[in-house]
Amino acid sequence: MSVADFTALNDAGLQLQAVFDLEQLPAEMAAALRSRFDPAQRQRQLILIGHGGRVLWEAIKASGIRSENPIDDFSVRTVGQWFAQQFPGRTCQVIYRGDIPVDLQALGRIAGWHHASPFMLGINQDWGTWFAYRVVLLADTDLDPSRPLQSESPCARCAERVCITSCPAGAMDGGSFALGKCIAYRREASSRCKATCVARVSCPVGSSHRYGDEQMQHAYSISLREIERRGY
Ligand code: SF4
Ligand code: SF4
Repeated sequence: MSVADFTALNDAGLQLQAVFDLEQLPAEMAAALRSRFDPAQRQRQLILIGHGGRVLWEAIKASGIRSENPIDDFSVRTVGQWFAQQFPGRTCQVIYRGDIPVDLQALGRIAGWHHASPFMLGINQDWGTWFAYRVVLLADTDLDPSRPLQSESPCARCAERVCITSCPAGAMDGGSFALGKCIAYRREASSRCKATCVARVSCPVGSSHRYGDEQMQHAYSISLREIERRGY
């Protein structure tokens, strides 16, 4: 067993990393992954990488990358370079983003990163909702598996629940998240949620990591375009 040096990923804003032995994962998930293996590569670990806060966006801009999907392309490229530098002679397979279905939220729960918020994004005490899954690798490494973060959901201790009251669509008023209400409101001409989520921004947890305007605009304009493309 060995310990990875994640400095290069941290510097690029990919500060969330978790290593799992495939045997640690729920049997069904591990079996689904194994069925897609290249047996010649002897992959036995899964490495989950996410970003938190604003550093990734700044690193992407500084890199000068030109791409339709700069976040994905920069993340995969950076992780690939890190892996090659850290583990010469070892092999890895990028399964996210890729064509193998991966339950990112389930992995996030196992890593202790992810608790459900009322508006369905993951939340944790360190980053609030200002983090996201970026890359998943299968690798033939022998790293020490990560210990899950041990933290309860910040929502469990939140009396004000300002995310619920601040949502202009009232999407959480019924005690669960009404996606249809959220989408309908986002499509309105005068919507305040065309390029943001008012509920998300109102949550005080991890607010120092809140994305800047440009990063927010990028993320939410993509999701709105997708909503309009699919005609929801
Ligand atoms: S405002 Fe409270 S309930 Fe809402 S996401 Fe933040 S911590 Fe959770
Ligand atoms: S995007 Fe807007 S409408 Fe949807 S949950 Fe967030 S605040 Fe509510």
